[in-house]
Amino acid sequence: MAADINFMKSAMLLARKGLGNVEPNPAVGCVIVKNGKIIGKGWHKKFGGPHAEINALKNCKKSPAGATMYVTLEPCCHFGKTPPCTNAIIKAGIKKVVAAVQDPTRKVAGKGFKILKKAGIEVKTEICKTEAEKLNAPFFKFAKTKKPWVIIKWAQSSDGFLSRNDKKRWITNSASRKDVQKTRKKVQAILVGINTVLADDPMLTVRPDRGKQPLRVVLDSQLKIPRNCNLIKTAEKTPVCIFTTTNKTKIKQKGVEIIKIGKYKGETDLKAVLAELGKRNIQQILVEGGEKVITSFLKRKQADEIIIYTSNERLGRKGKVKTSQIMKNLYNRFKINHFDKRLFTKDVRLTGLTK
Ligand SMILES: [Zn+2]
Repeated sequence: MAADINFMKSAMLLARKGLGNVEPNPAVGCVIVKNGKIIGKGWHKKFGGPHAEINALKNCKKSPAGATMYVTLEPCCHFGKTPPCTNAIIKAGIKKVVAAVQDPTRKVAGKGFKILKKAGIEVKTEICKTEAEKLNAPFFKFAKTKKPWVIIKWAQSSDGFLSRNDKKRWITNSASRKDVQKTRKKVQAILVGINTVLADDPMLTVRPDRGKQPLRVVLDSQLKIPRNCNLIKTAEKTPVCIFTTTNKTKIKQKGVEIIKIGKYKGETDLKAVLAELGKRNIQQILVEGGEKVITSFLKRKQADEIIIYTSNERLGRKGKVKTSQIMKNLYNRFKINHFDKRLFTKDVRLTGLTK
């Protein structure tokens, strides 16, 4: 048992390497063990690429026949972008498979285990299950609820301003902004409110462009979005989804989808927005503000992960919009877990999960 946990932890460390490159797939790691020693290891490196099990089998220094495979998720049994891993495991003569947790997606959901058992392979599961679920929390949340994992991000000055009225554009430094690009890269959608569009005319894309851009989502209850803004102008290449509560004339342009949504206590119904995005297969969404939108998400408790960048600059009179009470008192309102603090030169990044 102790050995099982140690090997699974090694597999888990490998899995982590894929985070940021495999989404919306889960990050998976795998080690193959023979006579108490690891003879092969692998992980799922990027979306569309070979799975962890295949990479580990290829990496084996000696024949994997008769070996035990430790993998952080139930092996797949369906043809997706790659052939099923169960076939390769059976063919390689693996004797035992230890998987941290069952794959929650309907396509697998225990079927992978069944196929392996039928082929005479011993299967053991629920080793480091909690850690495995945490590792791919957005993937598990989406499989369970069909709603995206919500990451709330904002940048503030040391005195709590979210924007400035001098000629400078940014609140935080380039290292922090580069870090934001990493988060943008792993999500399937980025959301802002109409005020952010009107104030900043953002592009909301991942830079550098690797061809796969997240869906750009705007909450615009009165449909005030200007037709000549960057989002609409580039919608044909990178789609835009606008949620509104009015029946106003629709913007008819390729790449722009307008969705009428109901209200909840006078505001756009965020739960309904998330359900709609879930239907569009958005597994993770990054909410980038501004103050009004972030406050609504926090008030309705629709936040799974929170990322705050704070610069060391005091803006004082140069500051424009300040954080709301709920943003300021986040730690009193939520039980923040898995708290992490990191420095980006003089900026501080705080991250945490709300559950
Ligand atoms: Zn697979």
